[in-house]
Amino acid sequence: VCTADKLKTASAKQPQVHVASVANGSQGPVKILPNVLHNIGKTPLIRLNRIPQSFGIECEVLAKCELFAPGGSHKDRIAVRMIEEAEADGRLKPGYTVIEPTSGNTGISVAMVCAVKGYKCILVMPEKMSAEKHWTMNRLGATVVRCPNNIVHTTVADKIHRETPNSIILDQYGNEANPRVHYEETTEEILEQCDGKLDMIVIGVGTGGAVTGIGRKIKEKCPSCPVIGIDPVGSTMALPESLNSGPGFFEVEGIGHTWLPDCLDRSVIDKWIKVSDKDTFNMARRIISEEGLLVGGSCGTAVVGAIQAIKEAGLGKGQRCVIIFPDSVRNYMTKFLSDQWMLERAFLPDSEVSLGYSWWN
Ligand code: PMP
Repeated sequence: VCTADKLKTASAKQPQVHVASVANGSQGPVKILPNVLHNIGKTPLIRLNRIPQSFGIECEVLAKCELFAPGGSHKDRIAVRMIEEAEADGRLKPGYTVIEPTSGNTGISVAMVCAVKGYKCILVMPEKMSAEKHWTMNRLGATVVRCPNNIVHTTVADKIHRETPNSIILDQYGNEANPRVHYEETTEEILEQCDGKLDMIVIGVGTGGAVTGIGRKIKEKCPSCPVIGIDPVGSTMALPESLNSGPGFFEVEGIGHTWLPDCLDRSVIDKWIKVSDKDTFNMARRIISEEGLLVGGSCGTAVVGAIQAIKEAGLGKGQRCVIIFPDSVRNYMTKFLSDQWMLERAFLPDSEVSLGYSWWN
């Protein structure tokens, strides 16, 4: 909700928020951050020590842990960037309403930025997305509109925008700031954390912002490093088309579409891998229990895909694969964390990831 006080502190004039803002030059690290947005970026890169090894993998496998972002995902980066660019070019003014179609994480990040800056916020989210995301958005002050899974939620957001005076849509699916922030920030962090040594990068594809931005920078700075795109079974974004078994329902959230977002540049993806829900959620549960990382479902998808890609490429000792871990289990406490939810969908009782074994053959 927009109050006069919040608007006074609303930050059309605030400096661009990025990783550099947490440091203070010669005075050493800043002890107190002006607001939560200054804690966006600089996520840790963490080694996986058990799961890759259990598949006989000898290369180093590292997770870029966007799940530790203050809003809970890599979408914090794009939300603050899209909003500050809209402020800077005059499209977004105090008192305005920010509207955004979302599978949840962008919505949470946009709502977080709006809470700090004092904008009203309306988020449009398909029914299948978790209640946890919905409740978090509400608590951040946003209005949430649910739409049926079979309706493209961007059309609903467009309609609300037309009917809401003084509103803007950030449009993560078409906004070129989405891939650009990953090109400028996320990839630079990864390259710095890896001292420029990287033999494979694996990224789940939703809007395509992460894979496009990261892929473009990798092609420039590390051209021999393959970029692997991961697409859930039921989605139809992968190439060649023969990989896609046609449109269908899938439970994993945040990745996969049966249409192509404008942000997605498939030319940066060297290889696509398809992953089923069952493998996704069993792997996400394993990452939590064996690596101690409280990941969301799409991290499981990415790890299953990475294991297949590493084996197919024959990556070995002394080589290194980075996997993007987009969000945390916080969004899915009533979903794949629950044995009941897993059982109801016949994702259990296998305690192992079934697909993993076929790759040995
Ligand atoms: N995983 C999760 C959980 C997400 O919310 C998203 C964003 N939709 C992605 C992966 C994919 O990221 P991107 O939109 O940058 O392709």
